[in-house]
Amino acid sequence: MVRACLFGWAMFTGFCAMAFGAEGKPILFSPVSEAPEWRLLDGYQGTITRGQFEERLHRIFDPSGALQKYLQWGEDGVEIFRDPARTQSLFQLRFARPESAPSSSSVSFSLADPQKPLLGQVICLDPGHIGGDWADIEERTFRIGRDRPVVEGELNLQTCRLLAERLTAAGAKVVWTHEGFQPTTEVRPADLYPEAIQYLLQDPLSRRMPRYSVNGLIRWNAELLFYRSAEIQARARRVNEELRPDFTLCLHYNAAPWGPTRRASLRSINRLVLFAHGSYTANELAYDDQKFHLLRKLLENSSPDELEISAAIARQFQEKWGFRAEDCAGSGYAHASGVSPYVWHRNLIANRLFRGPVIFVEGPYMNDRTMYGWIQAGQYEGTRRIGGRERQNIFQEYADRVADGILERFRNLKGHSPTFTNYSP
Ligand SMILES: [Zn+2]
Repeated sequence: MVRACLFGWAMFTGFCAMAFGAEGKPILFSPVSEAPEWRLLDGYQGTITRGQFEERLHRIFDPSGALQKYLQWGEDGVEIFRDPARTQSLFQLRFARPESAPSSSSVSFSLADPQKPLLGQVICLDPGHIGGDWADIEERTFRIGRDRPVVEGELNLQTCRLLAERLTAAGAKVVWTHEGFQPTTEVRPADLYPEAIQYLLQDPLSRRMPRYSVNGLIRWNAELLFYRSAEIQARARRVNEELRPDFTLCLHYNAAPWGPTRRASLRSINRLVLFAHGSYTANELAYDDQKFHLLRKLLENSSPDELEISAAIARQFQEKWGFRAEDCAGSGYAHASGVSPYVWHRNLIANRLFRGPVIFVEGPYMNDRTMYGWIQAGQYEGTRRIGGRERQNIFQEYADRVADGILERFRNLKGHSPTFTNYSP
């Protein structure tokens, strides 16, 4: 879902709500989300030096410096505030003294078993979107003429099933955020009308959608809250409370925006991109829950794993498919990771809420001419001539690129820095 504007979602990136706390002070948080529990960060007191904190903040999470106005630096810590006037304190972090900082030296263990390099790893697969009866509501489906409809949720799941076979064969335990076409959340769009109305009353952006009636706009918002906020939060609860994987793979197929007529049509756009967490925008950082998740992710330090695994997968794509890297420079929502031209930092709901490393793979463009033909060919046996080359079916090739990247990374893992050892607070 990299191109949030594909089917008209662009205006909803800064999607937030406001409630009032006990003292009548506003508490800002994203809709249908849980208010942040700052005490969960107390386990990180004294675990990071000021230098480490500032380096991660600048390089990964806040390259524009938008968080600075909410921070007050002290002798041995930093305090984070709700407001730029710094009157409402949210949390105070105590730094480790440089000389007492936990060692970052590697804990070496023996080379991975070359046949089973993923032995001991719990890997969570998160096939993007829901699909099935929900595909229309999610606006992740299209059809050209009398061809078979392309439903992203189904392509993601089909690919993840083949990926699971590869990962399991290499020794991993594979767990899933969802494995069918049913939502993970119990909530349904009709339950979210009050939140949708509240959101519309607050957000002036919503008035820019003349093609909807008021009722249509409320329904559309309730659906959006359902499949984006409620569904991904339910998946996050499953990941964080039940599955507790070593890392999560969010797998998607991409799509380029339709032209001005908004009619489905094919283009020539073979590109690939992977996202690691980070790159919070100034708008996002106005909200308490975004500040909380930034801090939690920074302290959790999943970034090194996210970047290494993403870069290894990107190398496979580059070598075997040769697509160019997506250029997100100037997007306003992502910045270059520096580890690979394919890997960018971006703040997405899933990689913000899922704890532990999250590798977000945006696969081939579904509405690229060659990819579309490859998708239409289905899950065939053996190889066929696609785009001038003999190829296996797209699901197998996509799964193989991801699996080979992960295997390569773990085969070459000689030592392991304990960056992310236990995310239970
Ligand atoms: Zn997607």
